[in-house]
Amino acid sequence: MTKAKTILVLGGTGEGMALAEALQAIPDIHIVSSLAGRVANPKLPPGEVRIGGFGGAAGLAAYLRQNKVAALIDATHPFARRMGWNAAEAAAEAGIPLLRLERPAWSPQGGDRWIAVDDWGQAVDILRRSARRVFLALGRQELAPFAALDGIHVVIRSVEAPDASLRFADAELVLARGPFKLDDERALLQTRRIDHLVCKNSGGDATDAKLQAARELDITVIMQRRPPRPDVPAVSSLAAALDWVRAL
Ligand code: NAP
Repeated sequence: MTKAKTILVLGGTGEGMALAEALQAIPDIHIVSSLAGRVANPKLPPGEVRIGGFGGAAGLAAYLRQNKVAALIDATHPFARRMGWNAAEAAAEAGIPLLRLERPAWSPQGGDRWIAVDDWGQAVDILRRSARRVFLALGRQELAPFAALDGIHVVIRSVEAPDASLRFADAELVLARGPFKLDDERALLQTRRIDHLVCKNSGGDATDAKLQAARELDITVIMQRRPPRPDVPAVSSLAAALDWVRAL
């Protein structure tokens, strides 16, 4: 009998979930999905799941060796800044192949008014100069730099309420979880008379309707660029990741 190869998928994303589901169908593969443990009741992928940090690149390398992991797939979110670097270092140290699975970034189309920024400090500076009514489509942990905005109406959309210690001068909270529809996004931007939208370049189609609505309504989008990543083999589709696994 062939011994199953263990593949560790660093997840916490739709890609990680889809990969875990698809890998179930490939024979002689034992899949372990890893989640950071940020969400209280996460939707769990099928197969074995482990939760929590490894203790840096060294901890991940030790895990790979101890569990005789044959290959590592980094399917973490495009804005997970650290894990890709840890994965590159740990896979090299353990001497196993690594693949990055990452959804393509959004890119501006005709009619878009995008301003790319590297951090929220740059976004706040731009808003101070030119905005009156802002829509923040951000995670609640990222709102703090915007609390300093004064004289600007801020609409915050997040899955959970922001920390009560964050005091905005003039803010409205919209609690909602994607995916979002174009009609709803258009209505939200119109009824709040939004002139600037702030978001990260997450990519994917679950949350891109706001960009189309902004284009139609001639709203400026302040888009945070993705953080830098190590130079490792990468694919942008589930099918390509499955081909890589089959070729192991
Ligand atoms: P990060 O900055 O890359 O990671 C910080 C630390 O969290 C890592 O050093 C690692 O701890 C631990 N970690 C991250 N992903 C892990 C995983 N899949 N399994 C085990 N440990 C993990 O990432 P983050 O921005 O904090 O995001 C945490 C998780 O949420 C990621 O898995 C990501 O896919 C998901 N997520 C992030 C975003 C976002 O916008 N950042 C959005 C959606 C989902 P150790 O060093 O101790 O191993």
